[in-house]
Amino acid sequence: MPTLPAAQRRTLLDLADADRQLRTARHRKETLPEQQRLDELVVRHRELGRRHGELAEEQKRLAVEVQGAETDVAALSSRIAGDTSRLNSGEGLTSRDLITLQEEIDGLKARLESAEEAELDLLDRKERLDAEIAELKAEAEEVARDGKAAAAARGQALEAVEKEIAELTELRTRLAAQIPAPVLRAYQQVVDAGGVGAAQQEGSGCPGCGRLLSEVDLRTLAALPEDQVFECEDCGCLIVPAG
Ligand SMILES: [Zn+2]
Repeated sequence: MPTLPAAQRRTLLDLADADRQLRTARHRKETLPEQQRLDELVVRHRELGRRHGELAEEQKRLAVEVQGAETDVAALSSRIAGDTSRLNSGEGLTSRDLITLQEEIDGLKARLESAEEAELDLLDRKERLDAEIAELKAEAEEVARDGKAAAAARGQALEAVEKEIAELTELRTRLAAQIPAPVLRAYQQVVDAGGVGAAQQEGSGCPGCGRLLSEVDLRTLAALPEDQVFECEDCGCLIVPAG
């Protein structure tokens, strides 16, 4: 059985306690909800940026199409105006010419009508697109605002948990310095392997691994000299007798 002065039994248990708290604090640092929130917002902002890029491209293409449609409408309108004034003056035109001209005007009017419809469709699409982009921008601004707040909250949470880790590390260093080297080595080996390095006896099971202690183990524990601790043969946990 490892030798540990009776006065250090409490110290060993405190060390185990500090290490447990340290593990919890480190885990908390790795899984800060504030960090997760910030990560989500960053991802969302990136998505919105990408979508905005796509829509801005579409907006550019649409602007070219709208311009084309406006040019078509203007050209057809001006041809109709010219033909109409020629028709109205009737100068040097035979009645056959007048009929042809009227037919041409009718044809142009039909084309103008569909060109105007196409223009209206495009303007409609442009309006919907502009609205979608405005909505997207508003959401991106909101996400950016939330992101700033989330970053500040993350900073605070991180600072708090790092302070706790620093304090616990200092504490465990101070406690470890008071434990005899062979006991500390045995303790550390178990801790490094992810086990419980030391714990107080509770009932008839090992507080480290839960193994049911044998009658012999329990008798040994009950009669353990004050300057010894009991080592679980399964998990290596250093068991400090109860009481
Ligand atoms: Zn055990």
